[in-house]
Amino acid sequence: MSFHTLIHTPAAAGAASLERAIGRESRFGAKNYAPLPVVLARGEGVHLFDTAGKRYIDMMSAYSAASFGHLHPRLVDALKRQLARLDLISRAYYSDNLGPFCQELAELTGLDACLPMNTGAEAAETAIKAARRYGYEQLSIPEGKAEIIVAGGNFHGRTTTIVGFSSEPSYRRGFGPFAPGFVSVPFGDAAALEAAITSCTAAVLIEPIQGEAGIIVPPDGYLSELRKICDRHKILLIFDEVQSGFGRTGRNFCFEHESATPDGLILGKALGGGLLPVSAFVARRFVMDVFDPGSHGSTFGGNPLAAAVGREAIRVLEEEDLALRSQVLGKTLLRRLSDSAHPAVIEVRGKGLWAGVELDPSRVNAADVCLAMLRRGVLTKDTHNTVIRFAPPLVIEERDLVQAIEVFHDSLDEVSARGAARVG
Ligand SMILES: *Cc1c(COP(=O)(O)O)cnc(C)c1O
Repeated sequence: MSFHTLIHTPAAAGAASLERAIGRESRFGAKNYAPLPVVLARGEGVHLFDTAGKRYIDMMSAYSAASFGHLHPRLVDALKRQLARLDLISRAYYSDNLGPFCQELAELTGLDACLPMNTGAEAAETAIKAARRYGYEQLSIPEGKAEIIVAGGNFHGRTTTIVGFSSEPSYRRGFGPFAPGFVSVPFGDAAALEAAITSCTAAVLIEPIQGEAGIIVPPDGYLSELRKICDRHKILLIFDEVQSGFGRTGRNFCFEHESATPDGLILGKALGGGLLPVSAFVARRFVMDVFDPGSHGSTFGGNPLAAAVGREAIRVLEEEDLALRSQVLGKTLLRRLSDSAHPAVIEVRGKGLWAGVELDPSRVNAADVCLAMLRRGVLTKDTHNTVIRFAPPLVIEERDLVQAIEVFHDSLDEVSARGAARVG
């Protein structure tokens, strides 16, 4: 085989471009991620393709940002139609689709008003501002003293205020001093949360299921208990559904499992249809009214492209019955993941098309399992080196789901056999 034919075989071309892409990213990029060694070049529905054309099943969905699948034709079309009409105008003027976007998102969530932002972290920051101002103006908390109760293991984004109340050392190290005003309690323990409320508490800020912590599902009744506690103490209940929202857990929003409607809701990721960063703080009117002109803003928040995509994402969620699909296929996912009596599996947990398999780190390294899955054509990533995440696009077909789970079982067998061989 000549050199020329060699470099034109798909595998060799793939390996060369893999090295080129990885080398450039490490040389010219910041090293704040440690990606798996695969270079993706194309996506369609639940599938991603690398530079050599190899097809993968996406079990990550970009942390739920691609919950509708890659390049959903209706979302792409909505974006193209808007691109032919109007791009960005800033909030110095009204646009013809921001009002409808806010209305449709308020109606979908059962809340009253929206404040659009771009990333999840910005929407979480918006919620923090709303809670604090509400605390001063409506609860007569002394200026500068407002407290927000959060949960250990939380993830709300990467801004300095937000990482300041994270319990994960790697998110915090070297980034202080941090903003005061946050009190952390164990996740899933309603009594501990109630005990932490003081006369300075303005709000509770919680993920209904903790995603980045490893798909941690709280005990049944926790969310409705939080609703009752917040009512009793007249403080705000704010849920961060940036990752759990838009059908991920088998309902449009996770709080609907327990009819625990919050006073404020933080949304992002899937709201942008996998195409654009679109986030929002959605709230009851009495919360949203703390904002007056000049108090908050975002150049790109709620821009016409974002509003067009967000509106279509809401329509796709409803018209394709994605929450129901997630609920039905989610049962298959949990059952088949639990089928394995593999000794390295400590726990399988989740809701809807969102599951985490906790592995025993003394037996297997979760990152090695992800690498073995990658070689077999399934993309996912571990959290905290011990949990394998399963969060496919909600449009996944059952046969792709079943195949991805089989690949996981085979990969786990392969990695633990390798480990046993090393030890033995
Ligand atoms: C991803 C995530 C965020 C942050 O969203 P970004 O768009 O990355 O800023 C906030 N909250 C939760 C629960 C998330 O999963």
